[in-house]
Amino acid sequence: MKKIAIFPGSFDPITIGHVDIVQRALPLFDQVIIAIGTNSQKKYLFSLAERLALINECFKNEEKVITDTFKGLTADYANEKKSSYLLRGVRTSPDFEFEKTIAQLNKSLSPQLETILLVSQPQYSHVSSTIVREIIVHGGDVSPFVPAAIVAAIKAKQ
Ligand code: ADP
Repeated sequence: MKKIAIFPGSFDPITIGHVDIVQRALPLFDQVIIAIGTNSQKKYLFSLAERLALINECFKNEEKVITDTFKGLTADYANEKKSSYLLRGVRTSPDFEFEKTIAQLNKSLSPQLETILLVSQPQYSHVSSTIVREIIVHGGDVSPFVPAAIVAAIKAKQ
């Protein structure tokens, strides 16, 4: 059976930290689906279409990566995609506490679903979509934090 992992997140926008998690997961799975979850309560800087286009640009040469969007529970989406693995990244202790709760919740909603947590490499542990958005809003240089392939597209937004 194909090993399919779902990497759910907001990706507003995708950063070098997200890309590192995906690249490290690729040898472990046959397919990684980067899935943008849509939460009507949350306000995003980039539209869903923009976030999807930025992710597609980063992985256009990677056959094992698929991109998608979903609404509703991540566990339901994983079942729909016949995926038994949720992939998430951990940078800090608060990240771990948060991810642990979500992983336990998803396991109780869907007992066959395993969450795989990859610990951030030290050079990426300070990188987040939040800081990238702050830099964009204040007109700074995002290039140290986002993949080279999307720097121009992000600068266009500024
Ligand atoms: P969410 O809103 O679901 O947290 P994000 O797009 O912010 O979505 O993050 C998606 C996942 O990527 C989360 O598991 C988050 O911890 C992880 N992540 C974000 N930035 C990094 C990073 N720099 N290194 C490792 N993991 C990261």
